[in-house]
Amino acid sequence: MAADEVAWARLTAAEIQARAGVATVVLIPVASIEQHGPHLATGTDMWLASAVAERTARRLQAAGTPALVTPCIWSGLAEHHMPFGGTLTLDEATFGAAVGGIARSVARHGFRRIALVNGHGGNVEAIATAAIVLTRELGVPVVGVTYWNANADTFGAILETQKNVMHACEAETSMVMAVHPDCVREANIARAVPKRFAPPAPPGFKRHRGFVELTDTGVMGDPRAASAEKGERLLEAASGRLAEELGRAELWS
Ligand SMILES: [Zn+2]
Repeated sequence: MAADEVAWARLTAAEIQARAGVATVVLIPVASIEQHGPHLATGTDMWLASAVAERTARRLQAAGTPALVTPCIWSGLAEHHMPFGGTLTLDEATFGAAVGGIARSVARHGFRRIALVNGHGGNVEAIATAAIVLTRELGVPVVGVTYWNANADTFGAILETQKNVMHACEAETSMVMAVHPDCVREANIARAVPKRFAPPAPPGFKRHRGFVELTDTGVMGDPRAASAEKGERLLEAASGRLAEELGRAELWS
């Protein structure tokens, strides 16, 4: 049983250490607890980053690459969601320190392939920075990936009303329906659709805005188009892509 297990927290210290070595990929899901409109639970990013990382690890194991998944770093950078309530945020320095502490621990136990699997929009830049800083500091490749940015092509082919993940949208609502249907308030989906949208920044530009400026409901996108079946396809596409890339030795050489 333990031989197939990918969840770090479900293994003993000795069972984890038996897998330490050059080829094992350790995935660290990173997320946020924050408002996801009137219809999705605040743990959405945590459930989805964890689901993508776990499915990726199982695919890697099945393909002969040993893999482990740590528990999700559930708190991220969500200041831009605070006015809607229900949101727990860290500041940038604390978030970077938390991610660094976990990655450093993993490296100290002899693991040499570490992937930060991000599932929250507000963490994208910080995770890329952490991957750079930790690779230099640890002398071990620490790869950062935001799962939907690695899946622009596969997600675009599955979604009907948007090109990729937005927020509490067709994509996120579908995936939560697939993994935690009890965290979706179906009766609130109709009123989750935003009436007001801020214009997006031009391609290549970063213009930071709080979410109250961006949308009146806390949602970006149309969750009415969501389904559990679509969510299952998105999660399978995401984990397929991540397993394919994280399983390549060249990424880690
Ligand atoms: Zn989200």
